[in-house]
Amino acid sequence: MTNKKMSLTNKVLLGMILGIITGLIINLFHLNNPDSFINNYIVDGLFHVIGTLFINALKMLVVPLVIFSLICGVCGIGDIRMLGRVGGKSFVLYLLTTAIAIATAIFIAASFDIGSGMNIPASSEFISKEAPALTQVLIDIIPTNPIKAMAEGDMLPVIFFSILLGISILLVGKKAKSIIEGAEIANEIMMKMVTIVMSVAPYAVFALIAKAVATLGLDLLASLAGYVSVLISALMFHLFITLMIILKLFSGLNPLTFLKKIRNVQIFAFSTASSNATIPVTMRTVTQRLGVDNSVAAFTVPFGATINMDGTAIMQGVATVFIANIYNVDLGITGYLTVILMSVLASIGTAGVPGVGLIMLSMVFTQVGLPIEGIGLIIGVDRLMDMIRTVVNVSGDAIVSTVVAKSEKKINLDIYTDPDAGAIKQ
Ligand code: ASP
Repeated sequence: MTNKKMSLTNKVLLGMILGIITGLIINLFHLNNPDSFINNYIVDGLFHVIGTLFINALKMLVVPLVIFSLICGVCGIGDIRMLGRVGGKSFVLYLLTTAIAIATAIFIAASFDIGSGMNIPASSEFISKEAPALTQVLIDIIPTNPIKAMAEGDMLPVIFFSILLGISILLVGKKAKSIIEGAEIANEIMMKMVTIVMSVAPYAVFALIAKAVATLGLDLLASLAGYVSVLISALMFHLFITLMIILKLFSGLNPLTFLKKIRNVQIFAFSTASSNATIPVTMRTVTQRLGVDNSVAAFTVPFGATINMDGTAIMQGVATVFIANIYNVDLGITGYLTVILMSVLASIGTAGVPGVGLIMLSMVFTQVGLPIEGIGLIIGVDRLMDMIRTVVNVSGDAIVSTVVAKSEKKINLDIYTDPDAGAIKQ
């Protein structure tokens, strides 16, 4: 027996695997029939409660963590111009990676000609919700009431308010020193809370995944095998090839080290299907495991969770080709260019929460004239696809944070290269 403790990542991974197995058993043996004991008390009872409590706990941390770390970040930089540079670089990189993601997805999906000649019954009806208009997104960046923005967890206005607060604290100077110190302590306390919440993750991830797999329509998955496999391949291509090339090219850092350290963030994203709820974990990992300075991460991580959605864009690319082929609509080059533009713009205004990709998709479909009902065809497998694309979304956030930090010399390379830095042992 070795007395080496298992790392949290391995425990969470174990929770995930056991969750998949349990979910599959429930699913394959039809133990999840409505009104059955297992369904009512275990899947919709125990698993549901544990999973939701955990997601609530993560969400609970997001707003205070973002506010305090941004105040510390801004005050820590001391140079407002750097803030402008970090903002500009991350904005361009976020949009660029999203555009590359969807272009690749359309290319891959079109090469496989998925959906051609298929006749699939809709798994359920899709009721479209309005995605926010870009003008409104811009207007809402400045909150009329910051407390309301915080209460509703609207990231862009919260980010704006916190940065302005940080700048004002800096400008007040000496008199405000104790506030800066207070924010630093508060930030440390919040990070501690993140660690505490993360330490129960193995059980929560088990519950979340077991429930998701238990309720997954496996038959549906088979009938949509073409869509699902092309989508997953495009997502994996972006994650393991495109993003890694971007990391290597722009920062020179080792992609394998990155992938190893980012695993926790990916598992959290997979189980919660929410980039927003994953913010605390992304922030902790990017700063304590990858060595990115808080002055960069405090901004790039929540900003990325809101505006950067590579995985979601990939889903939109693949879904557009798929549905267009099924309905025999030829979108042509202009149509596809419109899809790329719309997806990138739509990602700016929509928060990283579960299922938001479908809302964005309805916006894209309306723009290019594809029938919105088409979304009903893929909705049945969307939860699983959502989980996978959120992994790609958060990985993109972490990549851009790392690249921007490296370019600003705001990364601690000793931390980046140390395999144990910031790891939670239990
Ligand atoms: N769930 C995704 C996220 O939080 C958004 C989506 O694709 O629906 O990043």
